[in-house]
Amino acid sequence: MEQFDLGIIGGGPAGYTAALHAAAGGEKVVLFEKDNIGGVCLNKGCIPTKSILHASETFHKLQTCEDCGIKVENIQLDYSKVLERKNKTIEKLRKGIELALKNAKVTVIHEEAKILDSTTIQTAENTYSCKKIICAAGSSPRLVKGLEFDHEFLLSSDDILNLEILPKSILIIGSGAIGIEWARIMSNFGVETTVVELAQHLLPIADIEVSKRIERIFKSRKIKFYTQTSVEKIENKTITLSDGETITPDKVLVAIGRTPNKCENMPDVTCIGDITGEIQLAHFAIKEAIQEVEQIPFNKDLTPSVVYGCPEIAWVGKREQDLEEGTYEKSQILISALGKSHCDNETEGFIKILSQNGKIVGAHIVSAEASSLIHQILIAMQNNISTEKLKEICFAHPTYSEGIFEALFR
Ligand SMILES: Cc1cc2nc3c(=O)[nH]c(=O)nc-3n(C[C@H](O)[C@H](O)[C@H](O)COP(=O)(O)OP(=O)(O)OC[C@H]3O[C@@H](n4cnc5c(N)ncnc54)[C@H](O)[C@@H]3O)c2cc1C
Repeated sequence: MEQFDLGIIGGGPAGYTAALHAAAGGEKVVLFEKDNIGGVCLNKGCIPTKSILHASETFHKLQTCEDCGIKVENIQLDYSKVLERKNKTIEKLRKGIELALKNAKVTVIHEEAKILDSTTIQTAENTYSCKKIICAAGSSPRLVKGLEFDHEFLLSSDDILNLEILPKSILIIGSGAIGIEWARIMSNFGVETTVVELAQHLLPIADIEVSKRIERIFKSRKIKFYTQTSVEKIENKTITLSDGETITPDKVLVAIGRTPNKCENMPDVTCIGDITGEIQLAHFAIKEAIQEVEQIPFNKDLTPSVVYGCPEIAWVGKREQDLEEGTYEKSQILISALGKSHCDNETEGFIKILSQNGKIVGAHIVSAEASSLIHQILIAMQNNISTEKLKEICFAHPTYSEGIFEALFR
């Protein structure tokens, strides 16, 4: 039986990061992946959706740029090319990770693996002895009774990535990050889009003002949505909602969360990434891997969230509804107050900073570039930089970043 220092199940962000860091530290590592290296993030999640999103955004912008003096006629969409580009992007990035694993001398076994005990991993062909085992087996789309995927009409977030023809209309069940992102993609492509959400507001995990703003934006973008509504039944491709209304979309995307994959629950086996069911984000998985292998700690409460809505949405720390009234200060600026937003035709949104005793405890951004802006605030939070100190920073003009500075004076 071949001996290894570390055996890892799962070649997603958690697994490959752990493998690369352990190998760099001189450990002999074996990594098991039953599907493609890169996991959900690279093959079915973050990367493919953002590639399709980019195409949809370009398509939408070309149709709405007349006020910039640019008239584009006869815009054609070849969706097969959108998929081709998405697949090429995945392949290119996957090759990069595979090469990094090869260069690091990580043994990659492309097979399903099973943990036999806290030092033994088994595949159909072989058994491997590992001084330590990490399980990074990830997660899969959640299955719910009555909403079982048929992969034709009722789609999972995996199925929708490979639709060859765009539907005329789509119903998205669930308004988490995946639901919001696909609502943006589909509506950008001109697909009649409807979202159904059980909670009181869209994107219920977000700050309440963020949720309300998304609802306003959806209305202006003619994305229909129902809140406090569930799907009662599906019969002959007709969806009956809990309020009695019926919808007959071409396709349905069921985006109601993800379930951790199975992993043998063994003592001394460490689980990291989506499999823990804690925070199901790629950067969280990566930080957990580095924490496990390198013992570099990170503050889980300062894990940022980014949702690629229209525009981007990002937040970190406490939401307003988490704080007791009268115990915090709120600084806020509308994005339309920034010169850059008018130059870019991106005036929708706000930057909101919540602080207690002069220190930021939460930040919520709806804006173009929100995915980058949030990190500027995150660095201040992580390093306990006070709002007064932040006011001393010289932010460039015209930028969205200066909105952070402006907000602090409001
Ligand atoms: C549509 C979508 C969009 C997303 N967008 C974002 C985003 O923008 N930003 C973000 O941070 N996160 C995003 N995520 C979440 C992100 O993809 C996950 O948080 C991340 O992939 C988790 O990494 P992981 O390594 O824990 O698990 P995974 O990426 O799920 O990898 C686990 C791997 O383990 C393998 N495996 C499982 N069991 C076995 C076994 N027994 N033997 C061998 N191999 C096995 C699987 O095949 C898989 O490749 C998105 C997810 C989806 C679905």
